[in-house]
Amino acid sequence: MSEATANIGVVGLAVMGSNLARNLASREGNTVAIFNRSHDKTEHLVAEHPEAEFVPTFSYEEFAASLTVPRTAIIMVKAGAGTDAVIEELLKVFEPGDIIVDGGNALFTDTIRREKAVRETGVNFVGMGVSGGEEGALLGPSLMPGGSDESWVTLGPILRSIAAVAEGEPCVTHVGHDGAGHFVKMVHNGIEYADMQVIAEAYDLIRRATGKTPAEIADIFAEWNTGDLESYLIEITAEVLRQVDADTDKPLVDIIVDQAGAKGTGGWTAQTAIDLGVPASGIAEAVFARSLSSHPEQRATTGVLPGPAEEFTAFDADAFVEQVRLALYASKIVAYSQGFDIIRAGAAHYGWTIDLGTVAAIWRGGCIIRARFLNRITEAYAESADLPVLMTAPFFREALAASQDAWRAIVATAAASGIPSPVFSSSLAYYDGLRAGRLPAALIQGQRDFFGAHTYKRVDKDGTFHTLWSGDR
Ligand code: NAP
Repeated sequence: MSEATANIGVVGLAVMGSNLARNLASREGNTVAIFNRSHDKTEHLVAEHPEAEFVPTFSYEEFAASLTVPRTAIIMVKAGAGTDAVIEELLKVFEPGDIIVDGGNALFTDTIRREKAVRETGVNFVGMGVSGGEEGALLGPSLMPGGSDESWVTLGPILRSIAAVAEGEPCVTHVGHDGAGHFVKMVHNGIEYADMQVIAEAYDLIRRATGKTPAEIADIFAEWNTGDLESYLIEITAEVLRQVDADTDKPLVDIIVDQAGAKGTGGWTAQTAIDLGVPASGIAEAVFARSLSSHPEQRATTGVLPGPAEEFTAFDADAFVEQVRLALYASKIVAYSQGFDIIRAGAAHYGWTIDLGTVAAIWRGGCIIRARFLNRITEAYAESADLPVLMTAPFFREALAASQDAWRAIVATAAASGIPSPVFSSSLAYYDGLRAGRLPAALIQGQRDFFGAHTYKRVDKDGTFHTLWSGDR
């Protein structure tokens, strides 16, 4: 049996867990105990990385015995049943005051359930969002822990030491209690879906309207990455578009099957937005765009459903590209604004105190949506913490004012020429919906009262009203 020498343990040594364990081991003062259900992964990791001086363990009892008190374990296993199975085993060997951190991509409602159940045993449970993929886990992820204040006292210094650093600040904060961390990570992924989709729409419009090659469009994205749009996703888009397939010598993007996969977190974000009554249309459209792409049997309607008679060709390619850039920027602002709206609504609903500006700050490093833009979000919330709609902050309002003509022109061109632009166009509809002095929702209330006596409110008097419509029987 190992003596208690490790200050932190990792359970689950697939790609994420092994990289996180190596990251932990590389930091001064950490000794890392490791455990995996299949022992070969543990043996392999120890053999491959002697420099990490891991404490390998081969049973939950041995794992617990190797940890100093309060025992702290980060679980990085397949989300769902795997997480529940590991928690059950750890609870048999952990004691009150110990800490179990779930770093998997758990649904936040599962985290709320688990936190409540584990807390009853006296053990602390922390659901933690981890962003940045395998490279982030190894070199510095963006970390979004929830859980109790007590756990944060022990965890804070450890997590700060392994997180990505942006402008001198570690990309981690105690997001809020119980499921708050996984909730924020879920919304991060939802924003990521929308951000990727608007980039894809921009590429598609430029390619179809100007005839530029993927390599030429790569140069455009590389140029965009030096300005307001500077971000990891714009940077890698240039790389992806530049890639040539070794077998065919064609642009790789033309060889990849055009059906986008999804692991579910975008769908969770859209579903949660619906449940909370938050109009996150850009995020939802991005999820649906992936779904549409992944139904070849439905897409066989190509050539069956009529489109516009002529294809659009941009008369002035440079001017068109600049309009697309502005449309992309505006749609991206909407996606982030909607994402932060979901977090604000979630915090109110679940009773979390979440500092929205700090959330933007911890996304500046390590994670997939890291971008220059996030500083502007932090500043917006620093100026006005209870901003009802992020994009009404002065910086974003001015950016939208400067972009809107181009945005409208691009959405109109896309519609007229039959090029799908679901997030560009739905984001514009959302923007105009927020701007509208009066919405046709009044008519909907009338219809609802007509067929279902659902009642309505009046603009000129308090109270609830029902009309005896001529159609009433
Ligand atoms: P994974 O493929 O999601 O899961 C494999 C790991 O889970 C293995 O260690 C496996 O053990 C263990 N496992 C599965 N069921 C188990 C059970 N019933 N009891 C004990 N262990 C069980 O691994 P991953 O890609 O490294 O991801 C780990 C977690 O991080 C997931 O929740 C994932 O969603 C999350 N995450 C992933 C990324 C990413 O970019 N990949 C980013 C952020 C978060 P065996 O070796 O014994 O099968």
